[in-house]
Amino acid sequence: MSEIKTQLVVLGAGPGGYSAAFRAADLGVETVIVDARDTLGGVCLNVGCIPSKALLHVAKVIKEASHLSKHGVTFGEPSFDIDKIREYKDSVVGQLTKGLAGMSKMRKVNHVQGYGKFTGANTLEVDGKEGKTTITFEKAIIAAGSEPVSLPFIPEDDRVIDSTGALEMKDIPEKMLVLGGGIIGLEMGTVYEALGAKIDVVEFLDQLIPAADKDIMKVFTKTYKDKFNIMLETKVTAVDAKDDGLYVTFEGKQAPSEPVRYDKVLVAVGRRPNGKVLDADKAGVNVDERGFINVDKQMKTNVDHIFAIGDLVGQPMLAHKAVHEGHVAAEVIAGQKHYFDPRCIPSVCYTEPEVAWVGLTEKEAKEKGVNYETATFPWAASGRAIASDATDGMTKMIFEKDTGRVLGGAMVGTNAGEMLGEIGLAIEMGADAEDVALTIHAHPTLNESIGLAAEIFEGSITDLP
Ligand code: FAD
Repeated sequence: MSEIKTQLVVLGAGPGGYSAAFRAADLGVETVIVDARDTLGGVCLNVGCIPSKALLHVAKVIKEASHLSKHGVTFGEPSFDIDKIREYKDSVVGQLTKGLAGMSKMRKVNHVQGYGKFTGANTLEVDGKEGKTTITFEKAIIAAGSEPVSLPFIPEDDRVIDSTGALEMKDIPEKMLVLGGGIIGLEMGTVYEALGAKIDVVEFLDQLIPAADKDIMKVFTKTYKDKFNIMLETKVTAVDAKDDGLYVTFEGKQAPSEPVRYDKVLVAVGRRPNGKVLDADKAGVNVDERGFINVDKQMKTNVDHIFAIGDLVGQPMLAHKAVHEGHVAAEVIAGQKHYFDPRCIPSVCYTEPEVAWVGLTEKEAKEKGVNYETATFPWAASGRAIASDATDGMTKMIFEKDTGRVLGGAMVGTNAGEMLGEIGLAIEMGADAEDVALTIHAHPTLNESIGLAAEIFEGSITDLP
């Protein structure tokens, strides 16, 4: 058993954990980071954001190439080498994890591999490949993230996969069911469809990506109907694993009357915080019944010297939220007076078209009784969208009715996520419609649509198609 004494231990090396550790080290705090994985980067870098985006890039190029045949350029039928595609994805992950290891070394952050659990208010025991280590710390940041939710009635079977299994890309099934119409399921379904799988998506609620506005999802769903067979207001009630496939029984509005056979089922029904498996109670940290840890605006738990960040402190479970929370925790630990108090956190679904929103959605504005007005610009009226064969899109802005202040914005369309930053900045800066309308956007760009939506609100554009 080896022993380490440190000023700060960070438990979990995802985007929250490594951002916190690096910021703390930069501010002169002696830091140890613990993770069960061999590499830094957590879920996001190893089995989440990054590998999925590498595969989505491949999917997008396949689709774009095939669309060009409409415009006189034909490449022929694509053929797929699944091993090479997997290698590409792994190389992207490898490049970034190597970069993080270098950044960690440069800052003298000590990376201890192993599974950590609290043994007291100032001690953590880590069980790793090299044996056990006891870490005595002055301060701790819990950044242990989340894991996929599994459904109890679905049998354990190699053909039932979660997002991590889907990213392994062992093979391309002929027919796959995506159980859950949220972001992760839609992204992975997009990859497998581009590589030749037939995809069914089943969603219990009445729209895909339930957090996004209905009109945005209507545009998305219209486009995706060509790619996926989508069953809304429908649920899976049983999965029967037989030799020749998984037989799935459905119930609800669009349920097939007989069980349907699939080669694979991807369960993508959400993620569960890892708060319950850390023995946090031994350090006196309260964990709620779902596994979340409650924190204040400085990311402090109920125990003054222990902080928590990332997926395990609550929604939205997104990497960029974890990073910002990590910075706040580290800065507070280093003696600075900082708070996590953003006006908005962007969300993006990296399908094609992408779905992106930031700030208030219309749904939330209604629920909160906000006096708002929306302005939407259809991409069918955008020169750049027409020139790029990307007219399946829409930009929607939400303004405070009386003041014109920007409250939120949403987009569906190619590269929507890349354009969201402008709306986020407008919200953070307290900008109003006039500020956005008077900002000269380059022509022809898709993000002109943000300025044009502001002009619609202002009343200076009235003749849209
Ligand atoms: P995590 O990244 O979950 O990392 C936690 C780490 O803690 C893990 O490495 C785990 O091994 C370690 N750990 C847990 N318990 C222990 C323990 N007891 N001892 C030692 N180590 C432990 N978010 C986005 O913003 N954009 C995206 O495009 C996006 N795409 C995604 C795609 C997929 C397929 C998935 C699954 C997720 C995606 N996410 C995305 C979500 C994003 O990955 C998470 O929000 C983010 O990783 C959370 O960061 P975190 O720091 O809280 O912890």
